[in-house]
Amino acid sequence: MKRIAIVGGAGRMGQVLSAGLGAVADFAVVALVDVTAPAELAGASHVTSVDGLEPASVDVVVDFSTPEGAVASARWCAEHAVALVIGTTGLSEDERSEVQRCAGSTAIVMATNFSLGVVLQQRFAAMAAPYFDRVEIIELHHDRKVDAPSGTSLTTARAIAEARRGAGLAPLVDPTSRHSIEGTRGGDGADGVRIHSVRLPGLVSHQEVLFGGPGEGLTIRHDSFDRLSFVQGVVLAVHAIGTTPGLTEGIDSLVP
Ligand code: NAD
Repeated sequence: MKRIAIVGGAGRMGQVLSAGLGAVADFAVVALVDVTAPAELAGASHVTSVDGLEPASVDVVVDFSTPEGAVASARWCAEHAVALVIGTTGLSEDERSEVQRCAGSTAIVMATNFSLGVVLQQRFAAMAAPYFDRVEIIELHHDRKVDAPSGTSLTTARAIAEARRGAGLAPLVDPTSRHSIEGTRGGDGADGVRIHSVRLPGLVSHQEVLFGGPGEGLTIRHDSFDRLSFVQGVVLAVHAIGTTPGLTEGIDSLVP
């Protein structure tokens, strides 16, 4: 039995994870940590800070809160040698370094996207990359997202660039040299793999990888329609995480 505390447990992801992880046979969600009171406790206790947790009663902390919350979780988990899964995004370089430092004392899995479909899309894109002349990425998100491009699109661009380099292909050179409006060709994600960001109400999280070659195209599309899409990856991470200190970035290595 793995006993789990969810930091950000009153939030949108925290509440979905509380139900999702609680339904797994050998998991028990024992505490929801949040500065505000959760709408549903589902048998867990509520504390307002990680300092309110009893270290001996928690095996894994799952953090979907804020960058400050994630750093506080990392410090607490390092101090008490409790494993940590971080889904919180938007950490600064300093905050990432602090998480890295804490991973010297405890096991940490940190991923900016826990969707299995996204992991598979990245794998498929890397497989296809050596076979096509050109590739571009379109990422589409809801209109409340403050950062662009998405972290997932950057990771995908880097995976494609690495696969192209591995196949001995040169970086892509954009043939469009005249721009009547700056920015219409998107941004350079890695080695000329361009990323285009769309923000619209009604969208959740979507990404298309478009390949083009002589006389043919290949589009690999992934859609997250609901926060449920992140639960399975968190379940995998909580199952996989052990007690050996160290930082695992992304869940690719956890997906067989
Ligand atoms: P949210 O605002 O609904 O929830 C965040 C919760 O954290 C809130 O209830 C807030 O009160 C709480 N909180 C803030 N600071 C805290 C602290 N110091 N200690 C305890 N609780 C604290 O946001 P959300 O949509 O649930 O997303 C949370 C985070 O998860 C964001 O960073 C988001 O980008 C990320 N996210 C990651 C993935 C992934 O796959 N990695 C998927 C979805 C969301």
